[in-house]
Amino acid sequence: MASGRGCRPGGYSDSDSDDDDGYVGAASTSLRKTEVARPLPSSSHNVTWQKNPYQVQDQRNEFNYHGSRHPNFSSNNHVSSGTNETRAPGRRQVILSKIPGFQEGADKEWAVSISNKIRSSWEVVDETGGHVKFPKMLNDAFETCEQQSKNLFAFGLFLTLNSPDFAALQGKSQALAVITALKNYLGDRKRSINKEIQHLAFEGAVSQKKQNLIEAIFDVFNLADPDRRMDFVPTIEKMCFENNFKEACLCAMYLKLHNHFDIHSFLIPLLLQDRFNVVEEYLKDTPDIQINIVRFLDSCFDYGSAGVSGTLFAYVNQRNIGGVKPEKLNPKPITKLVRRLASKFKIGNEHCPNVGNRQRFGELRHLFSRRYEKQDMNVESFDELINQIADGNQKSKDDIISHFMMYGDYEATARFVVTHELFDDPVCRHVGILPLLPEPHKSRLLQNVQRNQNVDDECWEEHNETSQQVVSAHVGVNNYSNPQEDESWETSSESVGSCVVVESKKIFYLYPLPRETIHMVGEVPKLMDFCRQINEMAAAVEGEDLLISGFDSEWKPIMSKLKGAALLQIAFESDTFIIDIMSLKLNSTDDRTHWTALRKDYFENQRIMKLGFDVRNDVKMLIDTVPEWQEMNQTWKSLVDFSNLKSVIMKEDPSFFEKSAEGDESGLSELVYRCLGKSLSKAEQMSDWEKRPMRESQLLYAAGDAYCLIEVYKSLRDRTVECRADLAKFIKSSLKGSSSTTASKKRKAPSEIVFDLVLKMQNEVDNPIPVENNMEEANDPSSIKLVCDNMFQGLGRHLRAIGFNTVILDNSQPHSKCSYHAMFGRHVITKGVAFNEIIHSLPENRAFLVYHVKCEMIVDQLQEICSHFGIALSPKELFTICQRCNKKEFIQVSTETMLKFIDYVGSRFSKSKSMNGLLTFKDKIPDDMILSSQSANRTWELINERTIRFGNDGRSVVTPAGIPIEVQRVPPGLTHLINSYYVCSGCGKCYWESTSLEQRMKKSLNEESNLEESQISIKTEQI
Ligand SMILES: [Zn+2]
Repeated sequence: MASGRGCRPGGYSDSDSDDDDGYVGAASTSLRKTEVARPLPSSSHNVTWQKNPYQVQDQRNEFNYHGSRHPNFSSNNHVSSGTNETRAPGRRQVILSKIPGFQEGADKEWAVSISNKIRSSWEVVDETGGHVKFPKMLNDAFETCEQQSKNLFAFGLFLTLNSPDFAALQGKSQALAVITALKNYLGDRKRSINKEIQHLAFEGAVSQKKQNLIEAIFDVFNLADPDRRMDFVPTIEKMCFENNFKEACLCAMYLKLHNHFDIHSFLIPLLLQDRFNVVEEYLKDTPDIQINIVRFLDSCFDYGSAGVSGTLFAYVNQRNIGGVKPEKLNPKPITKLVRRLASKFKIGNEHCPNVGNRQRFGELRHLFSRRYEKQDMNVESFDELINQIADGNQKSKDDIISHFMMYGDYEATARFVVTHELFDDPVCRHVGILPLLPEPHKSRLLQNVQRNQNVDDECWEEHNETSQQVVSAHVGVNNYSNPQEDESWETSSESVGSCVVVESKKIFYLYPLPRETIHMVGEVPKLMDFCRQINEMAAAVEGEDLLISGFDSEWKPIMSKLKGAALLQIAFESDTFIIDIMSLKLNSTDDRTHWTALRKDYFENQRIMKLGFDVRNDVKMLIDTVPEWQEMNQTWKSLVDFSNLKSVIMKEDPSFFEKSAEGDESGLSELVYRCLGKSLSKAEQMSDWEKRPMRESQLLYAAGDAYCLIEVYKSLRDRTVECRADLAKFIKSSLKGSSSTTASKKRKAPSEIVFDLVLKMQNEVDNPIPVENNMEEANDPSSIKLVCDNMFQGLGRHLRAIGFNTVILDNSQPHSKCSYHAMFGRHVITKGVAFNEIIHSLPENRAFLVYHVKCEMIVDQLQEICSHFGIALSPKELFTICQRCNKKEFIQVSTETMLKFIDYVGSRFSKSKSMNGLLTFKDKIPDDMILSSQSANRTWELINERTIRFGNDGRSVVTPAGIPIEVQRVPPGLTHLINSYYVCSGCGKCYWESTSLEQRMKKSLNEESNLEESQISIKTEQI
């Protein structure tokens, strides 16, 4: 095995080469051959490989030839003659026929008769679902076996293998029950087991797929015996070679062979196949292997982010690893994987320097974009965080300097250079930076520069001026609260004035009460006082009324020590309390009753109304921070989430708000603007909330964020009097539809929304608005292709529902991916910052392909897009494209056939509940699957149901392309209402017609007009 320029680095452990004496026969010969082509023992090899990540190996073909593509070539041939038996029932028979003592004659007959008895007793189940007679019967059989001096293990193995469900993939297993009974019967007694039986047991165990059965057989037959387990190494290696990494991993784990396999045998392949859980279990208590894995994955970044996919792609190819999705080899998922491993196993940053750098770089990019593009961070917060990232990390310092220079902020660059004493950095000789440096560095550098005659005086004077202008333009952040802190950097004082000017056109919400009303709660006694106090306040409120409070929480955006919330702000009408979770946690003693007290007295106090905005994030953070609050999202009372309320009001009556939204306001800031006419400043949002003492501006910001909710509430309450609306009703309806008090917005089914859209457009036909476009020129949706940015995934699915061919970016894809699709003629649907990003990444003449969405509600957005593209909705196009996968090809399945499928596959919907074919209220109808109307006339491709096949796993039905059909999501109780089902040929999702919706839709589409000509026209406007 010494040849190799190495194709499979470290596939084998060093110790295995002499261990395969047991191999005989044809199979072992072929295995031998392949071994030659395989790589070398790990260490030396790794090095070679890493140095040449892109090298494609000559031996690859040879690999394929031998390799891994023998689907029926089962795992072990140690004892069997080595013929290529299949894993199907025949294989079990072969093993059975070899069990010593039970091959033929009276003993075999006896064993078979016991086996039959067990089988029939297994079918008798008592009312609790238990098998009463089963263990007793087995116990008796084991006793008889021993009394008659038959081999107990051979008998046990016979019974296990002879169980009818031995090779079944799921379910309660009789085989497992048998092996468990044997284990119990044996108790603690040590017995020697015949080697041949152990081999047969191993072979039997790995001939099926159930993990618990493998584990149990390995255990009972003591296969992990140090004298025996090495026998199985070659078989496990063969599993790896055949791409059965999971099985290999399980066997190695149960046999405790961790030291005999290196990370490339099956661990890295499994991780690349995205099967983290298997690996995670294997890696328990093996710190060395954990670190090796992290180091290896991190080393893929040695050639930069761009090299990662290439490196891993070559790795996967060389080793013929199947089932790896190419997108999983991108830098992002690999970074995520490394971080997941590192945090799971508490592996230090020193083992993954590349990923650490990459993460820091990402954080930097984010901070710089907040500071210079969105301009919603103030200079103190920004500098604090930047300096923390820079601390002790040269690469980050370089990155920060280049970022500053990229944004043309010479002054900040100079400040950074001074803070970190980087006077030798080449950037100091830059004409824009040098004049800003303090003495004596300035003179020293200046002398150097002049000596080298790189720059002359005039030149840098001139640049000095420009730099000031650039700075003023860029540093546009309002720091309304603490101008006194700016004196620390003297040259910057000039630009402070211009900072304020940039954003001064906006009026920001400020904490309205005197400073003394903000109370820090940072010690346990104070917290207990606070709890007592709010209890009293709540009790003092009269009658049905509730004590009103607003709450919010803050956490550090990056590099957090706490991994959770640092502050919880609770505002009441007269006072605001800032619960300093950070300090409370740091000074924590064993007594943790104060955390429980706060939960009970505040969150679970029915008498206190808690106003929040988009509370899910806060709750998640709070729960992560304080274990005592774990149950909170189920137990808390009297919570109002304004994000729900806002959408309810927007839907019922947007004019209810005093002001209409302006520009780019969104979220809470928009609500505050609509109610109070002021925006929320985000200047402190991204700041170091874990630093103590906090800056005054941070305190005011934190208090304001919670207090504004009370003012919003009051404004809405006053407004309801004016509008004769009922705030209580709004609040009630905003809570409706959320399962618990955690505010989940009720999602409308696409079909419902499309119906709304149809109605809306119908209304506009009734009240025509002058249009520029001729209606006859109206397009149908299929003439236009779209790509939705990932903030519009929901909209994208609806666009598919009304017939647009729409690509939807997933969350892992950058906005720029839209431009790629735009090059192929897709129109980009996006908004906000991404809009500019995408526009700039396209050639100029393509800019018209990018569309900026203005409306907020999905129905309005749909209408907006239809009118932008001059689209007329047509019943022929509605629901012709799969909302999940964008395919326009469906298999029409009759109800009769669907019932057969449900019978075959089973249904997730309870059978007893829908016994009479009627849907009971417990059966939730997944309404996003409902289609409606006009299926016959649609423009989609329909395929005959006879193309559907049974899946190879024996428990599914699949499309012609082999995609499993999601039969189990079809409620059987619905069938009597449905004529036809439509199965997406691309993803197997089932749709059906809804008669009620169909009628509604038909009605609205055809009211006062003819069905065939019922194209709904739309006003169009050119943008
Ligand atoms: Zn589909």
